Amino acid sequence: MEVVEEDPYRFRIARRARMRVPGVVFASRDLLSHAEKALEQVVNVAALPGIVGASYAMPDVHWGYGFPIGGVAATDVADGGVVSPGGVGFDISCGVRLLAADCDRTAIGPALPAIMDGLGQDTPRGAVTGAVWHLGSDRLLERVLAGGSRYAVEEGHGEDGDLRRCEDDGAVADADTGQVGARARERGLGQVGSLGSGNHFLEVQEVAEVYDEPVAAAFGLALGQVCVMIHCGSRGLGHQICSDHVRAMDRAMRRYGIEVPDRQLACAPVDSPEGRAYLGAMAAAANYARANRQLLGELSRRVFRREAGVRLTLVYDVSHNLAKIEEHEVDATPRTLCVHRKGATRALPPGHPDLPADLRGVGQPVLIPGTMGTCSYVLTGVPRGEAFHSTCHGAGREKSRHQAARGVSGRELRSRLEARGIAVRASSWRGLAEETPEAYKDVSAVVEASEGAGLCRRVVRLVPLGVVKG
Ligand code: 5GP
Ligand code: MN
Ligand code: MN
Repeated sequence: MEVVEEDPYRFRIARRARMRVPGVVFASRDLLSHAEKALEQVVNVAALPGIVGASYAMPDVHWGYGFPIGGVAATDVADGGVVSPGGVGFDISCGVRLLAADCDRTAIGPALPAIMDGLGQDTPRGAVTGAVWHLGSDRLLERVLAGGSRYAVEEGHGEDGDLRRCEDDGAVADADTGQVGARARERGLGQVGSLGSGNHFLEVQEVAEVYDEPVAAAFGLALGQVCVMIHCGSRGLGHQICSDHVRAMDRAMRRYGIEVPDRQLACAPVDSPEGRAYLGAMAAAANYARANRQLLGELSRRVFRREAGVRLTLVYDVSHNLAKIEEHEVDATPRTLCVHRKGATRALPPGHPDLPADLRGVGQPVLIPGTMGTCSYVLTGVPRGEAFHSTCHGAGREKSRHQAARGVSGRELRSRLEARGIAVRASSWRGLAEETPEAYKDVSAVVEASEGAGLCRRVVRLVPLGVVKG
C-alpha cells in the first residue's frame, strides 16, 4: 500500500479507483508497519456513498468485519450518505466505564484479595452465564432498550450523579425497539449485567502517573488513587441486531444502486427505511450496553463497600463502537453527518456544548484500556481534534486469538501476572491465554501517536492491580 507521510503521525493514502475520499492514517512509522492489511479496508471504506473528509484510521487500527477496527468514517445524510452496520461492529456500543475510589492503593492494600474474590464471584461472565438483573419479561427489556442507564438508575441501580458522567446522559434518543427482532430479544433477556467473554473485563487499577493535574482533578483522579475499569458491550443482543440488519441491507443495496468493494460493507442510505431501521435498532442496543455497564458499575460499588467500606464515583462512560448523527463543518459549511466510530472513541474538546457543566472547561474523558499486564490511559479531547473528534480505543490486537493461545497457557500467564502483584480471576484458561498482553500492540506507543497526531492529550496512566476476565 502506498502511503505518504504528511506530518509526523499522519499518513495519507491518495485517492484512486473507487475511492471517493483519501485515506488518512494516524500512526507512527512503526505502528504503520503493523497495520498493512487493515489499510486495504481503509481504502474500501473510502468508496462508501456520501463519505466526507477521509476514511480515517487510528493508531490501533487492525483488521475487522468490513471496516477496520480503529476506523472512523462520516457520511453526509443529505447527500445520499449511507449507514453500515459493519462500521459499528457486532458489539454495538461496546465501551468503557471508569469509576474512582475514595482512597488510594496503600489504604486499600489489605482488603484487595477480598475485593477481587468478591468481584470474581459476583460478576456474571463467560459466554452464556446469568446476569445481575433478571428482567423476566419482554416489557422490562423494552424499558432497558428505550432507557439505557437512565432506566437502570431509576430502578435503583445507581446514583443520581452517574448520568451526568455518561455519554448522552446514559441513553441515546431514537431507539426504535420495534426494529429489534425476536431472536435478539431472546438473547438479550437474560444478559443485562453480564461481562461476556474474552476481551471484556473488570479491572481494579491504580493511577500510576498524572500528566495534567488540573484536568485529572476535574475528572476526579489523583496519583495513587484506586479505580475500576469496566469494558463490555451489548452481548448477544447487539450481535444479533448486527447480523439481522447486515442481511437486510445486503438485500436492499441493489435496489438503491449501491455497489461496495466488499460485501461486508453492506449499507443503505441513512434516509431510507433500511437505514432508519438499523439506526433505531442500533440505538436500542446502545442503551442495552449502557444499562449493562451501569449494572456492573453498581455491582463493583457493592463489593467495594462490603469488603472495604470504600465508595466509588463514576468518572465517565463512553462507547467505542457506534454510529451517531452529528453536526460538523465540512469545507466550512455545517453538515449533518452519520459518524461511524468502530474501535474509535469520541473525544470532545473543551467548551463543547455536549459536555456536562463540570467538564466543559477541560474536555471529555477518553478511556483507553491497554492490557491486563501493562497499563491503560485516560485522555481528553483537544481543540481542532480531527476525524470528527475521535481518537484510539485501546492497544489494538496484534496477534490472532489462536496465535496468542499458542504462545502461552492460561495457567502460566496467571502465575506470571500474580508474581507481579496482579490478581487474576479468570473464567476460562483458554480465554485468558487469548488475551495475553503479547497479543496486543504497545498501548503507550498508540497513545503517544494519538497525542502526536493532535487527536487527544494524556491525562493519567493506570496500572492493573487485579483483573476479572470474562
Ligand atoms: P476491543 O473493544 O477492540 O475488543 O478491545 C479494546 C481494547 O481493550 C483492546 O484493544 C485492548 O487494548 C484492551 N484490553 C483487552 N483486554 C484487556 C484487559 O484485560 N485489561 C485491559 N486494561 N485492557 C484490555
Ligand atoms: Mn466488545
Ligand atoms: Mn470494546
